[in-house]
Amino acid sequence: MSVSVPFLDLSRHVAPLKHGIKEGLSAVVDSGAFVLGPEVGRLEKTLAEYCGTKFALACASGSEALLMALMALDIKAGDEVIVPSFTFFATASAVARLGATPVFADICPDTLNIDPEDVAKKVTSRTRAMIPVHLFGRAADMIRLQEIAEEHGIVIVEDVAQAIGAEAVMKDGQNRRVGAIGTIGCFSFYPTKNLGTMGDGGALTTDDEVLAHRLSLIRGHGMEPRYYHKLIGINGRLDAFQGLVLNQKFPFLDMWTEERQKIAEQYMMLFESAFEKNPEMREVVQLPLRAGNDRMVWNQFSICVKEAEGKEEKKVRDELKSFLGAKKIGTEIYYPLGLHEQECFQYLNYAPIDLPVTYHVSRSILALPIFPGLTCEEQESVVEGIAEFFG
Ligand SMILES: *Cc1c(COP(=O)(O)O)cnc(C)c1O
Repeated sequence: MSVSVPFLDLSRHVAPLKHGIKEGLSAVVDSGAFVLGPEVGRLEKTLAEYCGTKFALACASGSEALLMALMALDIKAGDEVIVPSFTFFATASAVARLGATPVFADICPDTLNIDPEDVAKKVTSRTRAMIPVHLFGRAADMIRLQEIAEEHGIVIVEDVAQAIGAEAVMKDGQNRRVGAIGTIGCFSFYPTKNLGTMGDGGALTTDDEVLAHRLSLIRGHGMEPRYYHKLIGINGRLDAFQGLVLNQKFPFLDMWTEERQKIAEQYMMLFESAFEKNPEMREVVQLPLRAGNDRMVWNQFSICVKEAEGKEEKKVRDELKSFLGAKKIGTEIYYPLGLHEQECFQYLNYAPIDLPVTYHVSRSILALPIFPGLTCEEQESVVEGIAEFFG
């Protein structure tokens, strides 16, 4: 019997916390402290400890975090910042909003993270920074990216929006949490992220005291003291309600991450038995790469399909998505188009096939349900549906 499966059901992991959150919110109402304040301070302390950085600064969203990071580094018109094309829009729009030029790099076909060799090719005398994205919860190749950054004197800003708690294996063989590797780490607490709030939220991490101070100035219109403006900042503050929700959820993050890891492993096993029954399916369905010694936090579990029976990959993918949709199995496409193909970036004059891996992955990728509370029965239903489509 196949059951319907939502792509994402946020109510499941929140259910046991609902009561505490409501009580806490009511205390915030009574406190009268609504912007920043002690809840946000507590969140910043927890996040810095969790990531292993000296400083953490909460802000209004992941998009604002990226913008503020680049502002703190004084990225401006004439500067180039290398970003993956296969990411959420905000990674690149932060660069463009400051008048600088996003330079799009391709991704690796197995990890779907930015390809360091393509980054190396795209460095010019104008390159000031690169923004590796730890896509879907997998750390980018930070060893190689750090080498390139050091060689050319480029700053690394990490986009950690999808990867809180993920770890990369570093040169010394030790693991390091993402957000503590580059000069600045940018986090998002949007509800669909692994640590999601009940609205918008974000954060920045750094070990650099000067940058941390600059970031806190930027977050509050550059004021120091009040109504005396040292620099042109923005309003990037987080409110106490979001701080409270995140503080209540934070102690459960590692447990939810382990659940995501188990779900991913379960998908691998279910697909393996489906491949045994139908060996041709192995040729047309590419599973995500398993984690090595790095720690993956599985914000998404995305498969890629290949062209089959003379049908283009995009047609196969879109038909699979509708087929599953008809069975009430939710899937999503992250992302249907590389940023270099987006209308708003046409002024940069990329041809679609200039970034061939991004081009093909965006046309063949499909994200399956993965969230704390997803049941084995639901996972079986997802894989059975896919097997039936290819059967
Ligand atoms: C979600 C996300 C962002 C933006 O975060 P918001 O909090 O939604 O502004 C930035 N980069 C990536 C990779 C994301 O997934």
